[in-house]
Amino acid sequence: SEQTVGWNFDNSYANLPHIFFSTATLNPVRVPELILLNDSLANALGLDTEALQKDGVKVFAGNKTPEGTLPLAQAYAGHQFGHFTMLGDGRAILLGEQITPSGKRFDIALKGSGRTPYSRGGDGRAALGPMLREYIISESMHALGIPTTRSLAVVTTGEMIIRETDLPGAILTRVAKSHIRVGTFQYAAARGSKEDLRALADYTLQRHFPQVVLDENRYLSLIKEVMNRQASLIAKWQLVGFIHGVMNTDNMTISGETIDYGPCAFMDTYHLETVFSSIDQQGRYAYGNQPRMAGWNLARFAEALLPLHEDESTAVEIAQEVISHFPDIYRDYWLAGMRAKLGLFDAEAEDESLIESLLYMMQKYRADYTNTFRALTLDQLGELAFYGKPEWDQWIQEWEKRLDREQASKLDSQQLMRNSNPAIIPRNHRVEEALKSAMRGDLSVMKQLLEALSNPYAYTLGQATYCSLPDPTSHPYQTFC
Ligand code: AMP
Ligand code: MG
Ligand code: MG
Repeated sequence: SEQTVGWNFDNSYANLPHIFFSTATLNPVRVPELILLNDSLANALGLDTEALQKDGVKVFAGNKTPEGTLPLAQAYAGHQFGHFTMLGDGRAILLGEQITPSGKRFDIALKGSGRTPYSRGGDGRAALGPMLREYIISESMHALGIPTTRSLAVVTTGEMIIRETDLPGAILTRVAKSHIRVGTFQYAAARGSKEDLRALADYTLQRHFPQVVLDENRYLSLIKEVMNRQASLIAKWQLVGFIHGVMNTDNMTISGETIDYGPCAFMDTYHLETVFSSIDQQGRYAYGNQPRMAGWNLARFAEALLPLHEDESTAVEIAQEVISHFPDIYRDYWLAGMRAKLGLFDAEAEDESLIESLLYMMQKYRADYTNTFRALTLDQLGELAFYGKPEWDQWIQEWEKRLDREQASKLDSQQLMRNSNPAIIPRNHRVEEALKSAMRGDLSVMKQLLEALSNPYAYTLGQATYCSLPDPTSHPYQTFC
């Protein structure tokens, strides 16, 4: 039956030096039940959804491995809230790499699948609520056009896990371009030989950046490529108001995909200091800090690669010089994205101040971030939180004049805005509502939410219900990992 499912595994990661992983034994679960299957992702991976519905649960639960897998847990390190630690997959197992019919390679990993050699004190398990939450938010990110790991399936395990209260256990099947992290390189630099580090860097270049493999200084090219992808990624987060919540270096991928949906959440009211995570007391990973923290993480990446530079005496200077460009590269992506959100195709020097005054008004008048751009897009200006306020009249005049100077037509600008401003995002209170129903055994609310979120730029009438804000009397939203 494996043939009919379409699994087609390779295990290139297992060819790395042995310090980078431990072969893992699976921890079968008692009563696995498949509760969510991502049909379109399954198809894209070359998998047959009917066969998966019938037979996939054993694989998604870690009760059976398809032929060709070589289950392993990856070793990595990381700066967690600034402090360096040895880590590794404590509750995830990489089954292998699925090679799709078109020849693309994707990691297939089980999250919540039980203990590994890197579990430390943990049980290696995950609770149903957070796995469903990861499914909703990661798939929503994908639909928003933001690079991300994806969610193929969620199974319940039929076992309770012990947290503050007993919770139903679940396993999420995560799909990623790879799970190589900044922290994987930090691990190599801290624990491995120079040859181990080189093996990881060459493997990463081959897998993600084949176009620069032959560059004269390919390790410098690696830094530049990763920096570019991260600059683009973080700009996309900022542009939709996504707050990752735990941007530790072990949670930053080399591929440029968003990873580790723990305490993340989307911002409602625009404010640079917005934090949702209960463990981020200092606001290290607040909305407005994300670009700076990404730059900090990339500096740790460049540091880890230092031993590979040919001339070690100039390595630090060169790496610093490269990394110093991050803020500008990020800013360019962000500005381009903001222009699009305002319907601007051309670039003018004053655009930055036009954008900054809009954000200033939003923060001052506690405007909802998504709905502000939605109202601008739909020309429903009366709905803006700052409509008619002293700053507004001047701003709208400037924006209108600016739009008049565009080469493109008004219609084209409007279309650009529709393509750049999501009509809906996974609002925290709607996600919570869906999870609550799911925990009671009713997945219909969640499935409707997933359906709406799969087309966030559609501006259909049916989506309007997902635009409403949380009840103002409800407590500030908090996330836990
Ligand atoms: P995170 O904060 O999600 O990036 O996780 C940090 C580290 O803790 C990673 O190495 C995880 O694998 C590990 N970890 C998280 N939850 C568990 C768990 N229930 N059991 C074992 N390890 C865990
Ligand atoms: Mg993590
Ligand atoms: Mg996590």
